[in-house]
Formats: sequence, structure tokens, C-alpha cells
Amino acid sequence: MRKIHQVYIDGHFVTPHGTEIAPLHNPATEQVVGEVRLADETDARAAVAAAKRSLAGFSRTTKLERIALLKRLSTSFADRLDDLKAAMTEEYGAVRGIIEGLLPLAPKMFDEAAELLESYEFQQTRGTTTVSMEPLGVAVAITPWNLSAVFVAQKVASALAAGCTVVVKPSELSALQTQVMMEAFDAADLPPGVVNVVTGRGASVGDTLTSHPDVAKVDFTGSTGVGQRIMRNAADTFKRLTLELGGKSPTILLDDADIPAAVGAALTSGFLNNGQTCFAGTRILAPQSKLDEVLATIESAMPAFAAGDPTDPATGVGPVVSQAQFDRVQNYIRLGQEEGARLLAGGEGRPEGLGEGWFVQPTVFTGVTNDMRIAREEIFGPVLVVISYQDDDEAVAIANDSPFGLQAHVFSSDPKRARQVAEQLEAGTVLVNRIFGDPGAPFGGTKQSGIGRHHHTYGLESYLEPRAITA
Ligand code: NAD
Repeated sequence: MRKIHQVYIDGHFVTPHGTEIAPLHNPATEQVVGEVRLADETDARAAVAAAKRSLAGFSRTTKLERIALLKRLSTSFADRLDDLKAAMTEEYGAVRGIIEGLLPLAPKMFDEAAELLESYEFQQTRGTTTVSMEPLGVAVAITPWNLSAVFVAQKVASALAAGCTVVVKPSELSALQTQVMMEAFDAADLPPGVVNVVTGRGASVGDTLTSHPDVAKVDFTGSTGVGQRIMRNAADTFKRLTLELGGKSPTILLDDADIPAAVGAALTSGFLNNGQTCFAGTRILAPQSKLDEVLATIESAMPAFAAGDPTDPATGVGPVVSQAQFDRVQNYIRLGQEEGARLLAGGEGRPEGLGEGWFVQPTVFTGVTNDMRIAREEIFGPVLVVISYQDDDEAVAIANDSPFGLQAHVFSSDPKRARQVAEQLEAGTVLVNRIFGDPGAPFGGTKQSGIGRHHHTYGLESYLEPRAITA
């Protein structure tokens, strides 16, 4: 039983002022495996004060000093990858595929930021004007529980590269991952107060941080509803915002696609991280002319996505994170049937042979129309829909008929045709014949999937404000 009773403020592990103790569950067993003492509003204010104190010195550090610091962070995160892997599996049932595929991006975020700083010019001359890119100030990074280390590293790397100091508020569901990260920050020998970490509830710590007058920027990854609340909190003091929110990403299989390969990729994307990935391709758009072939291929591919023990390297889909999420996903499976969709795979209740754990049957609905709630709302579990279309124009129209616009996928054997379709899609990222993006490309969403972009100069400049001096 792990007891996490400290937060990280001003370069020290300290016992929070907050006294609430929250249990930590292993979703594969439903057993309590630890507890976390949560920070409160007083801790949030202390963390902002520490970040503010350190800002004066840190914002004036040289590029070389910040490059050295980012490299130390990359090393200390890389040193802890095994511990992060174990925490991800124990805390939210992450399976080998997501861990091996995406967790190594965490240390890479610091490397990329260091590399970018080598060439980035903070000062430019335009005519008689000198434009200098100035750090915004104290930043707040708020992260979800899934793949927490990558999101924390992504935000902290850009903030520090820009010369901002940071308060990280991780999810209360990711305390095991957070403990490893706090130790990694501590091992990187940062100046006190440059990075502070307070695990606490959104309604207390989150609201305090996102409305605090000394906070200049909020960088949030999480649900669209919480993103809306953060925008409201931030409005009074005009905080700069980066919001990476939910998605309902389409995967368009054009009629000339290699169907077995495309279906395999579509299911991998849709069920990624046990169906709990913001950019998962949860709407599969299949041409009417190839619908039977697509459905048969999905059925025969499903055994590879069976739900099971996340510690088994062969498992494709682990449990969902919590009892609340399990209930929510079950409701959507029920709703889909009530809306008239047909179950091609999966259904309500636990998978056969799994008597405990928040395991959902990997589920695929067919006979779905894009106006159904299961096609419009983010379910955040292993539940996919197949929607048929007549021609490319209709595929584009269905793909774009969504409140979200995070990512889209197009599969075709004709690169020109695939690009023509890709160019019409309303999404922050469009991937052709692949399901994972390029880490150097900007990442973020259109419409209700968010505001702003991460990575490379897009991420760095979201922590900077131009100041023009004309003399
Ligand atoms: P969530 O929105 O419930 O929580 C995210 C974080 O926000 C947590 O740290 C939570 O404590 C905090 N929070 C809650 N209320 C708050 C408030 N009032 N003020 C400030 N912070 C508050 O999301 P989750 O359940 O942790 O994660 C799942 C969601 O995140 C999904 O919608 C998913 O699509 C989204 N997500 C998006 C991306 C992306 O890059 N676009 C990546 C991962 C997850």
C-alpha cells in the first residue's frame, strides 16, 4: 500500500495543508493500492507564490542555462521510465503497446525543447522595430491521468524553454505517476520554485490556480467541459490559454484502401490506451461499396483486441480507469442499442472470464448514423462506431459534422486522392495511412477540441509574448 503524502513546492517535498486522503485503485482488480493526501487552496497559493519568487531570476537565464536544465530533465525522466511504466499499469491499467509506443516521448519532449532553443531567436529586427519574445510569467499546467508523464513533460518543457516558471496540477487519479515525476524533477537540480507540483481536486486546487491573479498562462489537457470552466476562470485576468480537449476522431477508409491493413490500424487507434485516448479514431467511416468486407475484417480482427490483464504483454485492451468511467461506458453501450445501432462486437457487461476489474468488452457498433449520440459524444472507453458513406464528398461531410476537431485519419492507396480528402478535413492533425503523428508537428485541436498547439515553436511561442520596441 503506497502512501503519497507530500507535494513538491519551492524545491522541497512538503506535507500539504490539505488534509483529504483519497484512495488509489488498481482498475484491473478494483483493490485499493495506495492513498494520496490532496493539496488544497492554501497549497495552490503557496505553489504560485514559489513560482512567482523564482520567476525574476529564471526569466533572465540564458538560452545555454535553460538548454542545460532541459537536458538534465530529459536524463532524469529517462532514468525513471521503468517506474513510470509500472505506475501507469497499476494506476490506470495501461497495456504494453501504449507504454512502449508513447511513454518514451516524455524525456524526448525535453530534448526537443533543448534542441529548439539552440536555433530559436528571441530577438528579431523588423524595420526600425526590435521584437523580443518575452516569457509570459507564472504558468499552470493541468493534466489528465492518462499518459500523464508525456503531458506534464510537454508543458513543462515548453514553459521552461520560454523562461516561465510552472505549477503543475496533475490529476488526483495519477498520484503514482506524479510521485515518480516529482522525484525526477527533484533529481534534475532545478532552481527552487521553477517547477512545483500540487496534486489536488479540480474544484479546489484547479479553480484556485486558474483564477489566481499571479498566473499568466494556463496549459490544460483534459475534457471539454473542464476546458470551458477554465476559460471562464481565466477571463477576469486575461490569462493566455492552451487547451487540449476531447475528440471524436474520424478514420476514413477510402474505397481503394488496403482494407485489412486499414482496419487493423483503425482498430488500433480506436482502442488505444483501453479506448481512453483523446485522439483515438472512434468513428470508422466505411464506403458503402466495401461495407461487408470492412465489417467482416473487423470481426476477424477483434480477438487481437480482447480485454485482459494489463500486466500480460500480449493484452491489447486493459480496464477503464474507474468505476465511474466503467458505468459511463456501459451507459453508452446501452444507449447505442436504444438508438438503433447494431452490435458487431462486444456489448454490455464484463468480458467473459473477467469477474472483477473495470473491464469493458471492446465494442463496435454498426448501422450507426452520425446524428446518434454514440457518434457525436466522446465516450472515452473501447467503444467504436462504423458509419457508411456513398462517396468521398459524403465521407468528408460526415467527418466534419462533429463538435470536435482534434485528429482525423485517411486510408487510401492513392496519395493524391488521400491528400485531396485530407485537405478538406476540419482537424488539428490529419494523418494519411498512419495513426501516429510526427512529434515535430504542431498538436492540438479545432472547434471544441481546444485552442492552441503544442510542440516545437508552436508550443514554445505559446509561452511567449512579443514586445516591440520602435526607436
Ligand atoms: P478531466 O477534464 O476530468 O480532468 C483533467 C484535469 O483537470 C485533472 O487534473 C482534473 O483534476 C482537472 N480539473 C477538473 N476540474 C477542474 C477545474 N474546475 N479547474 C481546473 N482543473 C480542473 O479529464 P480526465 O478525465 O482526467 O481525462 C480525460 C479527458 O481528457 C478526455 O476528455 C480526453 O479527451 C481529454 N484528453 C485530451 C487530450 C488532448 O491532448 N487533447 C489528451 C488526453 C486527454
